[in-house]
Amino acid sequence: MPGNIAGELMDFVVPRFCLHCEEHLAVNQYFLCNNCLLRETRLDTLQLIDCLYERFGFELATWMFSVVKFEEWSAFRTMVHFLKYKGLFKAGEYLGKILGNELVARMDTSEIDYIIPVPLHRLKLIERGYNQSLLIAKGVSLVTGIPINQKAIKRARYTAAQVETETKHERHSNIKGAFKVIDSGKIEGKNILIVDDVITTGSTIREVATELKNSGANELYAASILVA
Ligand SMILES: [Zn+2]
Repeated sequence: MPGNIAGELMDFVVPRFCLHCEEHLAVNQYFLCNNCLLRETRLDTLQLIDCLYERFGFELATWMFSVVKFEEWSAFRTMVHFLKYKGLFKAGEYLGKILGNELVARMDTSEIDYIIPVPLHRLKLIERGYNQSLLIAKGVSLVTGIPINQKAIKRARYTAAQVETETKHERHSNIKGAFKVIDSGKIEGKNILIVDDVITTGSTIREVATELKNSGANELYAASILVA
């Protein structure tokens, strides 16, 4: 591990300042100060229905839930950035618990059989060291009690990072065929929650969802920390 990455990791094992505004944290605060935390405005039901319809129609996914909108000033956006690009893996479970609490408050989660975190390609996994969606899913699972299934589907093809592809069309062709179901016996008739860190155009989750539907999944739900 290169020295600078090790140094960054050490700095962030237990950061004692707010990641977003850099204020010193009180003893009982982690990652974000209360000011930044309370300023995050949750999406309301109508906004979520719009998000769902725009990205998945009403057929592919039954419901989608994202905690906040992807905005420059969002503290959760800062946290997802630290999680994905700065090695702050502990932020995953923290964000996942927030997502889990929102889910429990806003929908009946008892019908969901398991959570599938959007898989990373193994090369990407080696590069980053962890799958951020899996860490978020672990937080969701801790709060909701819904188990995680990491073995049902895998990322079969290495794809360029979605942020590097420009248009909606490019994003879609970039991700097409990227996922393969491994065990369709575990998918048939199941209600599945697909978890990702950020939902942008929705093409990644649409691709995962299409594969799951083709393998006989029943109801599909999508959840993320941010929606762009
Ligand atoms: Zn703050």
